[in-house]
Amino acid sequence: MSDKRTITIARGDGIGPEIMDATLKILEHAGAKIEPEFIDIGEKVYLNGNTSGIPDTAWDSLRRNKVFLKGPITTPQGGGYKSLNVTIRKTLGLFANVRPNISYAQFIKTKHPNMDLVIIRENEEDLYAGIEHQQTPEVVQCLKLITRPGSEKIIRYAFEYAKKNNRKKVTCFTKDNIMKLTDGLFHNVFKDVAKEYPDIETEHWIIDIGMAKIADTPQDFDVIVMPNLYGDIASDVAAQITGSVGLAGSANIGDQFALFEAIHGSAPDIAGKMIANPSGLLHGAIMMLVHIGQADVAATIHNAWFKTLEDGVHTGDIAKGGASVGTNEFAEAIIARLGQLPTTVTPIEYKSTNNTAEGTFALSPAVKDRPKPDVVRSLDGVDVFLFNNEQTPEEIGQKLEVVAGPEFSLAVITNRGVKVYPNGFPETFTTDHWRCRFQIAKEQKAVGHSDIISLLSRIEEAGFDFIKTENLYRFNEELGYSLGQGQ
Ligand code: NAD
Repeated sequence: MSDKRTITIARGDGIGPEIMDATLKILEHAGAKIEPEFIDIGEKVYLNGNTSGIPDTAWDSLRRNKVFLKGPITTPQGGGYKSLNVTIRKTLGLFANVRPNISYAQFIKTKHPNMDLVIIRENEEDLYAGIEHQQTPEVVQCLKLITRPGSEKIIRYAFEYAKKNNRKKVTCFTKDNIMKLTDGLFHNVFKDVAKEYPDIETEHWIIDIGMAKIADTPQDFDVIVMPNLYGDIASDVAAQITGSVGLAGSANIGDQFALFEAIHGSAPDIAGKMIANPSGLLHGAIMMLVHIGQADVAATIHNAWFKTLEDGVHTGDIAKGGASVGTNEFAEAIIARLGQLPTTVTPIEYKSTNNTAEGTFALSPAVKDRPKPDVVRSLDGVDVFLFNNEQTPEEIGQKLEVVAGPEFSLAVITNRGVKVYPNGFPETFTTDHWRCRFQIAKEQKAVGHSDIISLLSRIEEAGFDFIKTENLYRFNEELGYSLGQGQ
């Protein structure tokens, strides 16, 4: 039986095939024991009418092999095409996106010579749930979903990563001063999980100042964990300030599958010119080799890559106007240096890990086989959203006061989250989308779904067009909804 590990490989779009061929050639010369199984996904598949961008045969290959090396994919703009990257990450449960960003000031120009940080980005939730609706002619919405088990998985992964990789500090970025429930949950889970790792220093920054600090003093960070969208943006900034987005690789890790890639996209502006830097994908492949137990080959390639840069062999994005080589020449230069060590940086050594979450740490019962939470849920009322472009807040409010009772009373009307009734300011700008909060009436002991249905009937009979509702719950007596601004 062959001792080669079969890996599913997609060359990708744009510069994808150029950098993938270069990467595979380096792996082959370095003695990586892998057997590529190629799949076609992305632009070609989309344009052949498959709106998911991935055929069933490709899924079969991924489910068989569990490990995936992927070139960047072009998502056609418009036309309702869903991002294939997001689909693959979510379908295979790749909840952790690990993105190391290291500067190599010895040979790559950067303002931040001592930068060595790892961004661990939550990869399945947040605004990337992709649940968007147009609700009125003027208003669209996107649901931001943050879950307790999802937050616990990624935060625990970040601490375990820090422990295994001898890192000293884990930082959390959120925006919980504004999004108190969603980002607040992520931050609270961070504080809870941190207690289990007393040897690791922890800190939390609001994302805006946190990003500013990454851009200014990245050397102050070690491991940083954050929700999906922030992680997407922060990791591109971090990669760029190491010297080029073309440098960083990334691992997408789940309980059973792992996907490795470059962090950059398909770079259509330079596709076909054979000048792209293959380093990002090569670093993804190095992470893959460590993951499948070929740490020695990973180190050989990484050290040859160091030596190549040290010898002044640079692609255009690094050379920045100086002498440069193309994709193939760069790959050949690495191949020629396989077995050599750099002299200006400490040669790298890797230990093989099975990096899937399953192999790295036991998920807590709160995540896997978790018991049903012991929570008492009570209904406080309902937010009814209306489409209305004819009446003033006063007119809407006065009519709704009449139909609210006897079960509910109208507490507040907001427009884009800010209070406009009662006692709104005439200066407040309003759109055609009104959130009308009906709270259980004082004399009422409890309300249920049937009370909400009756309320909606009365609202409709009063001539209003409701477009959605959100129930207002308390969980163990704690408010499960935010107050309107000014409420
Ligand atoms: P991009 O990362 O492709 O390119 C941004 C800039 O960086 C361009 O100027 C490009 O020339 C340069 N660059 C990127 N990689 C380089 C490399 N290896 N060597 C030298 N220069 C490099 O970002 P974009 O232009 O915003 O996106 C292009 C397409 O890629 C879009 O369709 C997007 O959806 C897709 N994309 C895919 C992935 C992925 O597959 N994981 C990630 C990001 C973007």
